[in-house]
Amino acid sequence: MTSTVANLYQQSWGKNIIAPPSEVTVPRWIDDIKIHGGDQSCLAFGLGRSYGDSCLNQDGHIFDMSRLNQIIHWDINDGLIHVHAGISIADLLSFVIPHGWFVPVTPGTKFVTLGGAIANDVHGKNHHRVGTIGRFIKTLTLLRSDGTILTCSTSQNVEVFRATIGGLGLTGIILTVELQLVFASSWIEVETIPFFGIEEFTNLSTESQSYEYTVAWIDCVDAWNPWGRGLFMRANHSPNDRKPPKQKPKLSVPINCPTYMLNRYSCKAFNEIYYRVNSRSVEKKMVHYDPFFYPLDAVHDWNRIYGKHGFYQYQFVVPFSEKDGVVEILNRISRSGFASFLAVLKTFGHQSSPGILSFPRPGYTLTLDLANRGQKTVKLLHELTEIVLEAKGRLYPAKDSVMTPRDFQSFYPEWEQFAPHRDKGFSSNFSRRVGVG
Ligand SMILES: Cc1cc2nc3c(=O)[nH]c(=O)nc-3n(C[C@H](O)[C@H](O)[C@H](O)COP(=O)(O)OP(=O)(O)OC[C@H]3O[C@@H](n4cnc5c(N)ncnc54)[C@H](O)[C@@H]3O)c2cc1C
Repeated sequence: MTSTVANLYQQSWGKNIIAPPSEVTVPRWIDDIKIHGGDQSCLAFGLGRSYGDSCLNQDGHIFDMSRLNQIIHWDINDGLIHVHAGISIADLLSFVIPHGWFVPVTPGTKFVTLGGAIANDVHGKNHHRVGTIGRFIKTLTLLRSDGTILTCSTSQNVEVFRATIGGLGLTGIILTVELQLVFASSWIEVETIPFFGIEEFTNLSTESQSYEYTVAWIDCVDAWNPWGRGLFMRANHSPNDRKPPKQKPKLSVPINCPTYMLNRYSCKAFNEIYYRVNSRSVEKKMVHYDPFFYPLDAVHDWNRIYGKHGFYQYQFVVPFSEKDGVVEILNRISRSGFASFLAVLKTFGHQSSPGILSFPRPGYTLTLDLANRGQKTVKLLHELTEIVLEAKGRLYPAKDSVMTPRDFQSFYPEWEQFAPHRDKGFSSNFSRRVGVG
């Protein structure tokens, strides 16, 4: 199906820019994908859950891959599943969980396609244990703009494989994937531990290395130095599986909320309530995987809370030696009068990914949401980026809307190694913004 009606594809999850493509194709079969060549740039689109502009292609051709989502083959005994890349993690989970299998790595929403997850080489709360999703991809097939289909793995077309994992859709369209699942129950045993300051966070992270999942929510409305508060969660799959709980009706945000509702005071109130409610449950709790991994998925279109101008999500990683940089960023936000509704702090481990441009590096990673208040917000984000640069860290392209060409070159010197495998027929608003065409 080809259509010039492209409204769906002109904004990402952050809704902070509008970038209409000139053409959209929604293939249901691999043969439906026709790349015209010439000057028009192409880009695959998953479920648009990237926050910035890496899934947008203004005036170009978008291929919405989410309907190319069949399971091709699956081996219930060894957990190797062969699928079309447009399958969502939500659909994968509903298929494999009844047989005792689980996805090895998942981001904080299940409404992403496997192709999109590979193109950003996503990480989850278990990065310190297993690394990124790229480590679990056995093979993938890739359609290039000249019509050739390459089979890529750690033994075939190895460099193209490495470029495609975390390759931001710039090496071609991932058509099919063989993914190794893990055998694990769908219930999770969680402990929540209140903490104060980055030292306590670091100690908790260090002593919790054997837990499969770790992550911390932090309150960053008030200055963080030195006693900012947070809640550290550590968890494992439970050895005892249970029936799934009854489905609750889904909440939804039907319209864009007025921007004035989101301010420092509403943020402060939200954080206070969140802290009080969650700091009570220090003891171990059994939680179904859905609210544990995907709390935000419970609210349909939650991104409308930020109003019609949207918001910026900002995620960086800095080496373990640079924890002062994390605190400086938190204090800078607090001084600026901005407040992040959701701030998540985690450590990345040392498991390296096959992906050349993969974002994670060992160190602290902090994720923030800031309402879009125009140039004021962009200016603040550029100031934070200077701190990240100084701390020898990097920003995550999946969440980024502000990196300049200079920032990208400093954060991703691996681009030189990536460039020969890039397919010039593909580009995005992100790639053009950061100066790589
Ligand atoms: C609530 C929420 C929580 C999140 N939590 C995390 C997290 O914990 N960890 C994390 O790493 N990320 C996280 N993310 C980001 C998200 O996982 C990534 O942006 C993911 O790539 C989105 O997948 P998508 O299918 O929506 O792809 P899109 O956003 O549509 O596209 C993303 C990129 O993938 C490319 N792409 C899509 N399909 C294909 C294909 N078939 N072939 C080639 N390229 C393709 C696109 O060109 C684009 O460059 C989160 C996002 C949300 C909204």
